[in-house]
Amino acid sequence: MATGSKIEWTEATWNPTTGCTKISSGCKNCYAATLSKRLKAMGMEKYKNGFEFAEHSEDIELPLQWKKPRKIFVNSMSDLFHEKSTMKFIEKCFAVMMTADLHTYQVLTKRPKKMAEFSKLFYTNFGQVIPSHIWMGTSIENEENVWRIDELRNVQCTVKFISFEPLIGSVGKLDLDGIHWAIIGGESGHGFRPVQKEWIMEIIQQCKKQNVKVFFKQWGGTRPKSGGRIINGRTYNEYPKIIKSIPILYAR
Ligand code: SF4
Repeated sequence: MATGSKIEWTEATWNPTTGCTKISSGCKNCYAATLSKRLKAMGMEKYKNGFEFAEHSEDIELPLQWKKPRKIFVNSMSDLFHEKSTMKFIEKCFAVMMTADLHTYQVLTKRPKKMAEFSKLFYTNFGQVIPSHIWMGTSIENEENVWRIDELRNVQCTVKFISFEPLIGSVGKLDLDGIHWAIIGGESGHGFRPVQKEWIMEIIQQCKKQNVKVFFKQWGGTRPKSGGRIINGRTYNEYPKIIKSIPILYAR
């Protein structure tokens, strides 16, 4: 948990789960894996098992204590839809997000199939699709993982986004129907894989044509801020245009 965040597109992080398992090439230099090991070595109780997946009931209610509205990145140190994550625990996290609805939540996964399955359960429990203060997203690092957009489209929610970070290859042609927001970023840290300008521009151009808002986070490099955030002489700091929740449309 942190009440502030250095990540440009959010304001706070909340980690009701920790740990994960690498599942695709974008995971190679996973920041959460490295940091978890460091926090374990520092003796932090929450990270005593390093990067092993774990649910933390003690942290579930944290957003209820934050009185000022903020954008919260859910699970910067894990993936809420990890294979070992139980639907019961995910449900509890969403119950908190529904109660503490002064905040905006950004839930990002590399496992959008499980996210879509959960969204049906959410509908059953709450009688509506996941509302507009909870943004649901998936990560795509190259062309191999573009299929995740189709899985994201199956999520019964109001705001959908894609994080193209770390962008390690061209993504090719994209169907962005139903997608509201795209974050783009090159990789940073030790052993970073440099991003190419063409890969970034092909995403920006397709977003513009398909009416998707763009947030260009960074070029990347040895440090997150090494390359800055300017592309073609400007920054892209857009956020999704928030629409009212549509209660029944997506339900099956
Ligand atoms: S899915 Fe995310 S948190 Fe999990 S290993 Fe990959 S990059 Fe790290």
